[in-house]
Amino acid sequence: MAPPGSGLDLKHRIRRWHPLRPAMMQSLAVLDHADEETIARYQDRRLRLLVRLAAARSPFYREWFREAGLDPGSVRTVADLARLPLLDRSHLVTGAERFLVYPDRLVWKAHSSGTSGAPVTCYRTAGSSVFELSVLERQWGWFGLDRSPRRVILRGAFSAGPGEPPAKLLPGARQLLVWSFGLTPRTLPAVVEAIRSFRPDAIEGWPSAITVLASLLHDQGLTVPVRAVITSSEVTSAAQEELMRAVFRGPVVDHYGQAERVAMAGSCEAGGYHVFPDYGIVELLPVPGTSDSWEIVGTALHNWGFPLFRYRTGDHVRSTGPGPCRCLCGRAYPALGRIDGRVSDCFTSADGRPLPMPSIVTTDLANVRAAQIAQRAPGRFEVRVVPTAGSDLQALTAQVRANVDRYFGPGQAVTVRVVDAIPRTRDGKLKNAVIDPDVPAPTSAPDSDKSRCPGAIAYGSHPGEVSPRRGRR
Ligand SMILES: [Zn+2]
Repeated sequence: MAPPGSGLDLKHRIRRWHPLRPAMMQSLAVLDHADEETIARYQDRRLRLLVRLAAARSPFYREWFREAGLDPGSVRTVADLARLPLLDRSHLVTGAERFLVYPDRLVWKAHSSGTSGAPVTCYRTAGSSVFELSVLERQWGWFGLDRSPRRVILRGAFSAGPGEPPAKLLPGARQLLVWSFGLTPRTLPAVVEAIRSFRPDAIEGWPSAITVLASLLHDQGLTVPVRAVITSSEVTSAAQEELMRAVFRGPVVDHYGQAERVAMAGSCEAGGYHVFPDYGIVELLPVPGTSDSWEIVGTALHNWGFPLFRYRTGDHVRSTGPGPCRCLCGRAYPALGRIDGRVSDCFTSADGRPLPMPSIVTTDLANVRAAQIAQRAPGRFEVRVVPTAGSDLQALTAQVRANVDRYFGPGQAVTVRVVDAIPRTRDGKLKNAVIDPDVPAPTSAPDSDKSRCPGAIAYGSHPGEVSPRRGRR
């Protein structure tokens, strides 16, 4: 997640005014209506360049090509990709810098705990970040949004201190950051006032956070009409989507991506869900023991500073994915089935606030193989970690406490527990946030300042980091 403050503002300015941006947007506009052959040629050309660059400059690939005895020039098309090794999160838990092509001062560092709870480090060039924004803006354009829409952001990027307003304007970025962990009946009037004064084109963020806001508005009989609701990072349920549409009066525009930025997909205006083939190459690996589930494997075509080929995202998709596209939107973009992405339990703070996407607390933990946050009681949490060798438990604990204070607010209790492995849920899934009460939940009625946590209720069955009915980044 992007940090609050001037760093975020600076990155937005770089993205917005990057000298390559006009050329990228033009190229993406052409590819929006290109046929399959044109798109394939584009993929092959960029893949060839990236493989040669990685083989020459990335320590990991330099060593791999030498040991494999493979001529990098022999990887010429997408069909040749299979000669390269599969990567997974374990390659980025430690040693991510071995994939770097540029000095680390020229790239932006990011962390993610992804869907399965193993925090990884990755790097992005400014150019790849500009490209990403341009791809998203192209998708938003399918729904009638202009370039640089005014967006209300509910993504945990801002926390209000005691007595501070629950929303903050990000100068120059046309964004209003709303305190995603502070949405209650008490703060709602100030949030509504800030949003209405801002006159947004779109609401953007985690489905769970947007749903908390939508639920509060719905309870008051209020609507905030916008042109689109932009979601990502979590599964959106049909009930959540219905609530968002009712309150915000616009279509739900979802996209799927990862912090590693190896593949992107998203919804189109005709109701389809597509791989964005100019962003990355997607392969689908059968998930062992299933007949209708595939793992998304991505190869980014734009992140020149940190090339990753055939990266296993850990995200699964149901039904066959890429194939001839017959979507009414008419694009030659592969269709992607329903993604089984992150399904978050919404936590509760000590003072009764709903806490959407609680796993954000574990996303930047260093030297950890896997992590999970559990809610034991309102305002009481346990962070379970599988440390790497040489991990500093004291520093880790301090970082967890700082993250809990920053996102959930002061007054919470948190303990850190070292475990050998993160326990799976009853259905065999690894979740990075779970409600695991140590005493039976009280049955008393909620007090007037407590919000319902619609995300936690709606998430029983999924529909679509990921979302399409998917939503990662
Ligand atoms: Zn379509």
